[in-house]
Amino acid sequence: MKTLKSLMIFLAMLWFAPSNANTDDAEAGITAEITFTRTSKNIWRVSYKFSAPVSAIDLGPAVASYRTEAWTVLTPNVQLVSDHDNERLVIEGAAVTEIVLEAHRYTVMPEANYMPFAWFSDNGASMYLGHFMGDVETTDGLQTPQYDFILQGRSNENTLMPLREGNEPVFAYFGPQVPVVTDSIVLIADPGLPTWLRDMVDEIVPVLASTYASALQIQLPSKPVVMIAAGDIDIFSQAKHMKGGALKRQFNLAFAGLPPKRDEKEDLQKLIAHEMAHVWQRPEGINDFGVPWVYEGGADAMAVAALQQAGIWTGEQVRAFSKDAAARCEKDLGGMDLDEAEANNNWAAAYSCGYAMYAQTGMDVLTLWALMVRHPDAAKTGYTPEILSASLPIH
Ligand SMILES: [Zn+2]
Repeated sequence: MKTLKSLMIFLAMLWFAPSNANTDDAEAGITAEITFTRTSKNIWRVSYKFSAPVSAIDLGPAVASYRTEAWTVLTPNVQLVSDHDNERLVIEGAAVTEIVLEAHRYTVMPEANYMPFAWFSDNGASMYLGHFMGDVETTDGLQTPQYDFILQGRSNENTLMPLREGNEPVFAYFGPQVPVVTDSIVLIADPGLPTWLRDMVDEIVPVLASTYASALQIQLPSKPVVMIAAGDIDIFSQAKHMKGGALKRQFNLAFAGLPPKRDEKEDLQKLIAHEMAHVWQRPEGINDFGVPWVYEGGADAMAVAALQQAGIWTGEQVRAFSKDAAARCEKDLGGMDLDEAEANNNWAAAYSCGYAMYAQTGMDVLTLWALMVRHPDAAKTGYTPEILSASLPIH
């Protein structure tokens, strides 16, 4: 068993070895290697090594209180400071090539940002590495380093780093699970998921992956990594108890607070299909999503179409969802039009009304998206209403 397990981990690693080939983002510029070492259940030692001295790292906007509460800087003369809305690691005195800090488990799910950790019931953890990345100040001015990551788990722990394209941030896994590799995906599912939910995940995730791949005619450069964590169920009394997050080649789903209930099965199927749609909305070359109602409503529309095409949802379920989305749209807009709603960051309307816009086209949504992902402007602007209408047969 041990040998088979090692072989499977080795294969998974080989398949997902980080690519060094794509260094477009940082031509001969500065490079940064960060080693994440899990030193105990709740603590990671995070060690930066830069190819040239830096005097500060601009980490971008605060992630709730994650960095101020859960990080401890160990390198002397380095401080975490807040400048305007951004957080920075600032070096007092001579510039340095190494910075070491500790990151502790953090359980808040920040709004409109990636959760720092998705926790598994066996104390595995999926950690978002993007919160450690940033531009650096050097003698040549502000530079974007090419980041590379090294993962070290505790003894008897596996680690998994999804394939990164260019300088993309990722969630990395540390824990006892062996990734399950199917024809279409790599899955790490929490062993503590309720059985009905685990069965549902096993049933729909691979089927949806092949539905998207064949309907959109996209061969992804690597199998998407799907991580589903349920370690925070029953621990926190957050009303909002599930969060999904998609990156280019992976998506995460985390449950916290109240346990998922069977009558949420349909919502969960849609959520999983929605997050997976985002992965297929970003074939190579497409980095930005663009206008929220176009891609979020689009992801809901793709999700519903894929669920139906894969035989998971009936036509009746699709019609009920569409009817509900139209009613939600009306309510979410509250008298605004969609452009106004967009300008006011009305995300609810982006989903419900975006979905309704696709439903109104009367076109098969997966066929439509097969055209949209190939539109020449998609790589430049992300998805826009213009790209959507240019992809319709009559416009
Ligand atoms: Zn989404």
